Amino acid sequence: MSIAENIAAIKAKLPGNVRLVAVSKTKPVELLQEAYDSGQRIFGENKALEMRDKHTVLPTDIEWHFIGHLQSNKIKYIAPFVSLIHSVDSLELLKAIDKEAAKNNRVIPCLLQVYIANEDTKYGLDDAELFALLDTLQTQPLANIALYGLMGMATFTDDKAQVQKEFGHLAALFNKVKAGCNLPEFTELSMGMSGDYKEAISEGSTLIRIGSDIFGHR
Ligand SMILES: *Cc1c(COP(=O)(O)O)cnc(C)c1O
Repeated sequence: MSIAENIAAIKAKLPGNVRLVAVSKTKPVELLQEAYDSGQRIFGENKALEMRDKHTVLPTDIEWHFIGHLQSNKIKYIAPFVSLIHSVDSLELLKAIDKEAAKNNRVIPCLLQVYIANEDTKYGLDDAELFALLDTLQTQPLANIALYGLMGMATFTDDKAQVQKEFGHLAALFNKVKAGCNLPEFTELSMGMSGDYKEAISEGSTLIRIGSDIFGHR
């Protein structure tokens, strides 16, 4: 199947409130252009320089979502144009993003990445760290950051019940934050990849991040 057919097949299965992030990391710009030509407008990348270089040559109405581990010294490459950073996992990083956003005279939308998997290889805040960070923000808000929601990655396993449980946990955290904090833009729940997006959607995902089901295996 072509990239256009892959995208169409995924989109046909999405409820109206769920958006597709086409994860194009490591893929050449020709393939992103092919996805763009079929109507795809949101692309996900996990390296700052790679995203900056692709942004430079591709159409300007693309929404660029950063989904990888972000180092503070690389924020400057994406701060002028990034639409959403999914992977903020510390207050220090959030402060550094705020600083670069201010230099660019803009507000950068961010998601907080929460560690929900049963593995120790993934980045993210644990539940206590999440609430501690939100507490700190209540007393010292960052003017150039907008908190749009949460992101998480489930355990890489065939055990669908386990995956479902982890996404359910993230959804519960999302609802708790939404109810308890005065964050008007807190509306996005980024969960679900090629192998587990159906479970993620059933637990309330609003952004699925799909790479291999669109572009083939990396
Ligand atoms: C690579 C990646 C994806 C996409 O994974 P696929 O299994 O190829 O769909 C989603 N989210 C993050 C954070 C990634 O790094």
